[in-house]
Amino acid sequence: MKALRYYGRRDMRLEDVPVPQPSGDEARLRIAYASICQTDVERWWHGPTMRRWLTEPKTVGHETAGQVEAIGTDVRGLSVGDRVMVNNIRACGECHWCILGSQSSCANAKTAGFALDGGLAEYMVWPESHLIKLPDSIPDVQTPLIEPTSVAVHATRRTGVKVGDTVAVIGCGTVGILTMQVLRAAGARVIAGDLRAQSLELALKLGAEAAINTGEQDALDQLLDLTDGIGADIVVETAGAVVTPRIAINWTRPGGTTVLVGIHSGAAEFDFNEIVGIERTVIGSVAAAPGDMEKGIQLIAAGKVLLGDLVSAVIPLDRVMEDGFERMLRPEKDVFRIMVTPNYRSDQWSN
Ligand SMILES: [Zn+2]
Ligand SMILES: [Zn+2]
Repeated sequence: MKALRYYGRRDMRLEDVPVPQPSGDEARLRIAYASICQTDVERWWHGPTMRRWLTEPKTVGHETAGQVEAIGTDVRGLSVGDRVMVNNIRACGECHWCILGSQSSCANAKTAGFALDGGLAEYMVWPESHLIKLPDSIPDVQTPLIEPTSVAVHATRRTGVKVGDTVAVIGCGTVGILTMQVLRAAGARVIAGDLRAQSLELALKLGAEAAINTGEQDALDQLLDLTDGIGADIVVETAGAVVTPRIAINWTRPGGTTVLVGIHSGAAEFDFNEIVGIERTVIGSVAAAPGDMEKGIQLIAAGKVLLGDLVSAVIPLDRVMEDGFERMLRPEKDVFRIMVTPNYRSDQWSN
């Protein structure tokens, strides 16, 4: 079968590898779609930026779903033909952090597309315990977006948001747009911030009350105008740019909370008195914890989180580098998610 393998910085190869065989508790999926995450693009272009991403070579792709095609002898709850989402993070369940319930910090966690083979391939094996059956209401082509939705659910839980809070989301890419929708479902009033007109437009369409171009000189004044001069109760930063954590902290009201979700490939300077002086709380949120993906699926199925506008293109696995990764790298990047499928039919999609 074909699989996109990660060898290291600027070295990924679409290769022929053996079709994987499911062992006892595993199922083999015929991949329907896998999407390309900005994290995958960064790891390809800049090399691994987090220690836990260091293993290689493995098949890329952590946002993926498919149909069960074969099962191991110990699988009890899945049948051939089931549509399932890959719950991509497998925490060890035994370490100090897992026992404390902080599985996102598990040092032994293994993730699809990083330490374990992922979904940018024709087939993938994964344990039954980390496969979630999908409702019919979510179309195949949108299913990879369930993974970034789980990241949005996790980030929203980390904010501690309460009904009626004003929350600014800085960075309205895929994770930002999803986080905004989850925050709305949690009862927040949302203000969007981004540099790209296309992202701000989509944020407004999906329920942001206002959209601020963070590149404008008076961006902070606009935010203050919208919040009676107070600032946002909570700011969620999902952009991962050098300047965005500083903007996020500055937009947070005294005593409020900043949640940093974006992943950084460089180090920024910061005046920490901005945190100390008015007792802001700054916390990190990474990936998702057990239960977050199930919650995300519920919100999507209930129509509280809409995915359709985030599918920017559909491409065949054979073209994953040219039409996928290289397009994501362009400075004028005009896409949210590119969906990659091994079963591409040109009559079904026009990009
Ligand atoms: Zn991702
Ligand atoms: Zn653990």
